[in-house]
Amino acid sequence: MTTTSPQPVPLIRPERDRFLAEENPFEAMMSRFDFAAQKLDLDPGLYQVLRAPEKQVIVAVPYLKDSGGVEVLTGYRVLHNRARGPAKGGIRFDLGVTLDEVKALAAWMTWKCAVVNIPFGGSKGGVVCDPSQLSSAELERITRRYTSAIIETLGPDSDVPAPDVNTNERVMAWVMDTYSMHVRHTVTAVVTGKPVEMGGSLGRREATGRGCMQVTREALRKLRMPIEGTRVAVQGFGNVGSIAAEMMEREGMKIVAVSDKSGGVYHAAGLKVKDLQEHVSRKRFLSEYKNAERVTNEELLALDCDVLVPAALENVITSHNAAAIKARIICEGANGPTSAGADRILDEKGVFVIPDILANAGGVTVSYFEWVQDRGGYFWDEETVNQRLERIMVRSFEDVTGMADRHSINLRIAAYMVAIERVAAVHRLRGLYA
Ligand code: NAD
Repeated sequence: MTTTSPQPVPLIRPERDRFLAEENPFEAMMSRFDFAAQKLDLDPGLYQVLRAPEKQVIVAVPYLKDSGGVEVLTGYRVLHNRARGPAKGGIRFDLGVTLDEVKALAAWMTWKCAVVNIPFGGSKGGVVCDPSQLSSAELERITRRYTSAIIETLGPDSDVPAPDVNTNERVMAWVMDTYSMHVRHTVTAVVTGKPVEMGGSLGRREATGRGCMQVTREALRKLRMPIEGTRVAVQGFGNVGSIAAEMMEREGMKIVAVSDKSGGVYHAAGLKVKDLQEHVSRKRFLSEYKNAERVTNEELLALDCDVLVPAALENVITSHNAAAIKARIICEGANGPTSAGADRILDEKGVFVIPDILANAGGVTVSYFEWVQDRGGYFWDEETVNQRLERIMVRSFEDVTGMADRHSINLRIAAYMVAIERVAAVHRLRGLYA
């Protein structure tokens, strides 16, 4: 398979200068979208439709502080595209939330849902706040006020939030309760990532890491590399990284290194993932783990291994360190871990990069299962969830690699092409409502 990297395209990007730096992951994402759109020879009118978010909501979120005073925060909800179904996308609570970021992340969700061919569009939302400085009661008041402020966009048929940065099951339970109180009956399907007791899905917690394992296994098969003994390094040991490591170890791969915010640990003969998980559940960080050599996060990326799983942050593989990467396969557990500059270098080195919108789509896929189960009022056992996830991940991997082979392009551009083609097809069929 030969590979091609994105080049500048002659399409109009009106808000381009409002995106930030060259290595901004959202800018990088949009440049890949542009390239894929050009490869597909997308009609310029449709190109404009697909780039423009359908709806952008900015709300004031006043809340009562524990100290008695009132503070007013800013909240956003952006619905990027709902041609294929209700919008799906997380809510983040973070000081770094901006409208541009939320817009880009909403578009990202549209492409991710289309790659795995689930009937959702994309959305995203957030409140500008620092959750580490808020009590649980304050967080609940903020969540409920934000939910009621954006209530017109929400609903199982229009926009379905999920957890994202600094939000979790607890927050989703408050969103679901607030929405249900407004509409006067219980609506479980209005959010996903809920506690299982109130309509969450079995297998959702493990879904993203499990999906990473499944596409990595498919990549090894495609490249005719053995699964048994394949050496894997994982950056990030949270939900995605630790579960991906656990699942890969279970398949027979050897986890030679893992890291978190505090740094990493390395053992050439293979680490014991269960031991590491127990250590982190007791001590929170990997830093005091005894039975391995220490490595920095930067060293981990350049380790001699077969598979690298960046599962922590965006923008960790850049033009500055891509040349040092030795892995044959990169499975992007995190969103946006690789910059466009790095893509070019990795292409030249022949690294097989499984792009984020495919690699970590297991999470949104089981969110879709959660929504289906809530709407049907009939809940599946964990085995059913896992089997159906596997079928979707394997089929999506084949769709993307098929596109890559047909067009002699890398998997990232191929994934965007698969996604854009699917969304564009629905727009063409539906036509333009006058
Ligand atoms: P998490 O908070 O559970 O874990 C994050 C991990 O990254 C932690 O181990 C943390 O210590 C580590 N980390 C933080 N800063 C770091 C740094 N500077 N260097 C190295 N490690 C660092 O988060 P998560 O849910 O596992 O999400 C990880 C990534 O995967 C994010 O990009 C997220 O958007 C993406 N993602 C998550 C899901 C999901 O279902 N959880 C789905 C799709 C994509």
